[in-house]
Amino acid sequence: MDFDTPQLVDTFDRRINYLRISVTDRCNLRCIYCMPRKGLPKLNHAEILTYEEILRITKVAVGLGINKVRVTGGEPLARKGILTFLEELSSVREIEDISLTTNGVMVADRLQALWDMGIRRINISLDTLSRKRYQEITSTDAFYKVWHAIEKAHELGFSPIKINMVVIGGVNEDEILDFARLTLNHPYQVRFIEYMPIGPIDFNTPSRFISTKIIKQTVESLGPLIPVKSDCFDGPAQRYKLEGATGELGFISPISDHFCGKCNRLRLTADGKLRVCLLSDLALDLKTPIRSGISDRELAQLIVKAVLLKPSGHQVERDASLIPSGQMSSIGG
Ligand code: SAM
Ligand code: SF4
Repeated sequence: MDFDTPQLVDTFDRRINYLRISVTDRCNLRCIYCMPRKGLPKLNHAEILTYEEILRITKVAVGLGINKVRVTGGEPLARKGILTFLEELSSVREIEDISLTTNGVMVADRLQALWDMGIRRINISLDTLSRKRYQEITSTDAFYKVWHAIEKAHELGFSPIKINMVVIGGVNEDEILDFARLTLNHPYQVRFIEYMPIGPIDFNTPSRFISTKIIKQTVESLGPLIPVKSDCFDGPAQRYKLEGATGELGFISPISDHFCGKCNRLRLTADGKLRVCLLSDLALDLKTPIRSGISDRELAQLIVKAVLLKPSGHQVERDASLIPSGQMSSIGG
C-alpha cells in the first residue's frame, strides 16, 4: 500500500477503495426483476455524465485512494463508445483492478478488445440455463449468445469468470442445483445472489426472496461446501467449492447477512450522483457542481463529504419502508 495516498475513511472507520460506475441507465434486456417490461423513462442525453466527466471523477477518486473500479449499467455495452472509455480507464495506472458486469448479450465480439486493454475479470449475469426461461425472464431470445460469450471468455483466458444468478422464488429457484453442478466441470465462479426488494413494484412480493441459508442447504445435497480462502479482490461473496469441482460457488447475501460492516464502496450513477449505499437513497450530486466549473480539489472535497454520509448499514430486512426509490438498472447493482 502507498502510505502517501490519501485515504477515504468513513465515520465507521471503513476504508473506501472501490468505485462502481454505472455508465448508462439503458439496457437491451428487460429482466422481470429489474425493469418493467415497457422499460423506464430514459434519462436524456444531457442528463447522463459524459465519458470525460466520468473519467475526471474517477481520477480524482483514485487520487483519494480508490484502486478498484467496476463498470456496470444498465447494460454497459449498450452505450456507444464504451470500448474507448474502458481503454482510457485502463490507462489510469493507479487502478489495480478494473472489471465489468454485463448481461453478456453483446460482449462476445468485444472480448478480445477487452483482453487487449488488460481487463481479465468479468461478471456475466445469467439467471437460467434454459433458453425458453431466459426469454421469459429477459424478454429476449439470447440465451445462446450469453452462453457463447461465457465459453469464449474462458477460451481467451479471462479469470475469474463470475456467473451471477439472482435466485428468485417462483422464477428460477428450481435451477439452484443445475447452476451448482456447472462448477463441477467448468472453471466458473457461480454466484448465488439474494433477490433485493427493489425490483418493479408489481413483481415484488415476499415470496420472491430466497435466503442464502436455503440456497446453501439446497446446494449441500450435492456434497459438503468446502470454504475457499478469499483474495484481496473479493467482494462480499462467501466462496466455496464442491469436492473435486473445477469451479467455485459464491453466496452473496445483501439481505439476510448483509456485509455493511465491511462495505468499501461508492456508486456513481449514470446521471452523476454519488450514492453511498446500494439500499439507501443517500447520494451527493456531482454533475451540477462539475458543470458549474468546480476545481479538482473541490471535487475531491465533495467525494470526501459523500463518504462521510455513509450509513453504518441498511435496515431493509427490518423495515421494508426503507427500500430505496432508485432502480437497479440506474444504480448498477
Ligand atoms: N446489465 C448488467 C447485468 O445485468 O449484468 C449490469 C447491471 S445489473 C443492474 C447488475 C446486477 O444486478 C446483475 O447481476 C443483476 O442480476 C443484479 N440485479 C438486478 N436487480 C436485482 C435485484 N432486485 N436483486 C438482486 N440483484 C439484482
Ligand atoms: Fe438489464 Fe442487467 Fe437489469 Fe437485466 S439486470 S434488465 S440486463 S440492467
